[in-house]
Amino acid sequence: MHEEHVPEGWELVAPHHLPLRFEMDEEGGEPVTGVRSLKELVHRVSGGPETTPREDAGLAEVLPFPFLDLVGLEEVKQGLMLALVNPDIGPVLVFGPPGSGKTTAVRALHPLLPRVPRSLCYYGCLPSDIEEGGPDAVCPACAEKHRRGEPLAVMEPARLVEVPFPVRPEELWGTLDERAERQGKFRLRRGLLAQADRQVLFVDEWTRYEAPVQEAILEAAAQGFYRLQRGGLSAAFRAEFLLIATANTARGLPPWYQMDRFGLRLWARPVEAQARARLWSRVRAWRRHPRRALQEHQATVHELRQDLEAARERLRRVRIPDALLHQAEGAFARLAIPSTRAWLAWVEAARAHAAAEGRETATWEDFRAVAAMVLRLRRPEALQRFQETQQPDDPEVLTALEQQIVDSR
Ligand SMILES: [Zn+2]
Repeated sequence: MHEEHVPEGWELVAPHHLPLRFEMDEEGGEPVTGVRSLKELVHRVSGGPETTPREDAGLAEVLPFPFLDLVGLEEVKQGLMLALVNPDIGPVLVFGPPGSGKTTAVRALHPLLPRVPRSLCYYGCLPSDIEEGGPDAVCPACAEKHRRGEPLAVMEPARLVEVPFPVRPEELWGTLDERAERQGKFRLRRGLLAQADRQVLFVDEWTRYEAPVQEAILEAAAQGFYRLQRGGLSAAFRAEFLLIATANTARGLPPWYQMDRFGLRLWARPVEAQARARLWSRVRAWRRHPRRALQEHQATVHELRQDLEAARERLRRVRIPDALLHQAEGAFARLAIPSTRAWLAWVEAARAHAAAEGRETATWEDFRAVAAMVLRLRRPEALQRFQETQQPDDPEVLTALEQQIVDSR
């Protein structure tokens, strides 16, 4: 088999950045019906804006806690869904005090993940590689398969690939395949980053990892590929994943230069008292019969998945009128945020919001609705203040937006 033996310097994947795409489920499923507001749907099924669960420890060990049973966490739920609609917003950070339900919320996302192509090949070759780069863009074995008309991939629900702690560099990047080496063959084994290609990469408690690990993950997330060189072998592995991380504010937030990479910074707000009874009853039902709790939501989850698919489809057509874009530029300038990434993330999040609300033209409301989750804690001084007050600079962000509207009248 030629895929067993990689000639020196041979590259598996064209090292260009392909935008991350969640492909539509072509086969089966009912047609996507009626467009509704994502926010409305979340509110309807989870009982409206509320407060946060008190504990997340141990809830999601075996089966994920039902996404729709998460009490409160409205912003976290909405933000995670926007990220599924438009991965161009960039990586997601869910931050909050310990026990605020961050980890549970991310793991609960699992049933809502889109179907994506899973490569049948050791090197992760996909049909889209051939569509974009011809037969040379895949490994020789896959080029041959393609010639014979055999499939290179199957469609499967995306997985939540969790980075273990601690993680060894070779787990993350990959290494020489020792089993093959013993047989006198040389090949590189894909690491977690490459295994997460087209999937969701979840890093729980981001700040406990070492800086080189954090940098490698952020870099791969930004580039969509990474390069591995071991013992004369070199390969570029595709790693187009959606990165979702959590940060426990009791340990502190990531440093500013890392924070800037996160397109969405979702705040799992501290607990309020009123919702605890409801939270308790849901957690109890879950602990007694986890499967039943999940099954109760099956129909709604199915509906929500379809809405997300429809929103992803619609996203390509969502336009932003020039005047609106100027308005947003003005508000952004008022905040004096020293980051172009922040601006791009804001525009992409507004487009995703419009798509999720069933519109093809973005409005000021789309920019406003996502402003805090994208633009908070973007300035070094706001980040510094958060360490002391545990309050993000949301009021300043929203005031800048209001001022912009008032002054432009
Ligand atoms: Zn291949």
